[in-house]
Amino acid sequence: MNIGGVTKFTMLDFPHELAITVYAQGCNRTCDYCHNKGLIPFKPGALDWKEVWSMIVKRKDFISAVVFSGGEPTFQDDISESCSMVRSLGLKVGLHTNGEGSFLKDIEHLDYCLLSHPTNVKLQIIKSICNFIELSEVKWIDGKWENIKTLETDTPARMIRVSISALEQ
Ligand code: SF4
Repeated sequence: MNIGGVTKFTMLDFPHELAITVYAQGCNRTCDYCHNKGLIPFKPGALDWKEVWSMIVKRKDFISAVVFSGGEPTFQDDISESCSMVRSLGLKVGLHTNGEGSFLKDIEHLDYCLLSHPTNVKLQIIKSICNFIELSEVKWIDGKWENIKTLETDTPARMIRVSISALEQ
């Protein structure tokens, strides 16, 4: 993996878990609101997977999960292998993704996924490998959907509601 940085300990990136977050370098989008603009260019990152893996192994008894974020981690050709390595330590795997990287299809299982820019197709793919999904552009507040207008046109609101309802059961 080409890695732009790491958060060594966080309770914010995977609900109810203590995690290390690994930020992939490079994203196909250039969102105005991106909090990690320095991670958008596809260029050599500050760290490689070997270094980050040593860090994870060293801390494995103090964390419960590793989150792959970015940048867009599904453009990393070894994202699936990295997820499997994390799982081999008995840790959960989280992914923050826009679902547009060509290597998303290689990932076999996720314990948590924060999906931005949702579409029906992406949701179906993520649902097949993960049963804990958050959609960053949809908020369910006081019994109402908010920000639904920001969804892309091929994402009917009904499908989002069905997905969230299924997760809540
Ligand atoms: S998809 Fe995410 S990482 Fe990529 S530019 Fe947009 S906010 Fe930033």
